[in-house]
Amino acid sequence: MSRIAYVNGRYVPHADAAVHVEDRGYQFADGVYEVCAIVDGLLIDETLHLDRLDRSLGELRIASPMGRSALKVVMREVVRRNRIGNGLVYMQVTRGVARRDHPFPKGIKPALVVTARAIAPDKIEANNRNGIAVATVPDIRWGRCDIKSVSLLPNVLAKQAAREAGAYEAWLVDKDGFVTEGSSTNAWIVDADGNLVTRDVTNNILRGVTRTSLFTVAKAAGIPIVERRFTVDEAKRAREAFISSATGYATPVVRIDDTAIGNGQPGSMAERLRDLYLNAARAGARP
Ligand code: PLP
Repeated sequence: MSRIAYVNGRYVPHADAAVHVEDRGYQFADGVYEVCAIVDGLLIDETLHLDRLDRSLGELRIASPMGRSALKVVMREVVRRNRIGNGLVYMQVTRGVARRDHPFPKGIKPALVVTARAIAPDKIEANNRNGIAVATVPDIRWGRCDIKSVSLLPNVLAKQAAREAGAYEAWLVDKDGFVTEGSSTNAWIVDADGNLVTRDVTNNILRGVTRTSLFTVAKAAGIPIVERRFTVDEAKRAREAFISSATGYATPVVRIDDTAIGNGQPGSMAERLRDLYLNAARAGARP
């Protein structure tokens, strides 16, 4: 079966899906994106993702390409046409196409691309069963990491450095030695008192939708959460560590650089949170 993409009003074969060479996303990374997980045919945390898309667009003063209910129809249509049971739907909005010039052009329409792809559940399952390693790298990103912008070059470089170091994810470290987040995930530890600890959001990290949903289920289960920064050293001594993202939920970290975390096995908190999260997400999702 061939893949189908939505590009500016048309459903086209993925192989032919293209945007203009003067799309500002291509030339300036002048655009934003969202990734929403699909679990057993359900779009997970859809409202929170669309709320964040609106926020990102607002911060960059890019107009919405279409209303929310129309966008929901397109997302479902892309999922349906690609027959995705488990995977993700990707949405990207750029400021549009114009002659290359830095200031915002007048009178252009934002460009919208929506794609979807399958992810084998056993791939996610393997990471959760075995845990993953992270490598620490300096956080060299810009000052508005709260915007889910397509400008991801530092994240790409960080992830590549991690992979070359034999790790799955990079943890980005600020100039004071504190972990900000992962290259495409939020970073968490469990401290000696059993508190969940994750960095507070200013404009230095992305407010992960999964992070927000984990807060909700943890609070409901009476698990204490502290939003504060933590150093690499503290993380290495933590009882547990894990990462969160739309497509990975809560994935245990068993090694940071050369240091095993806890007993070197996936922790029970990550597993518990993942179960709570998936149950709640399934219950709240609409087909
Ligand atoms: N932090 C960064 C830098 C990300 O790119 C992502 C996801 O792409 C996340 C955190 C996790 O966000 P979410 O839980 O919404 O997937």
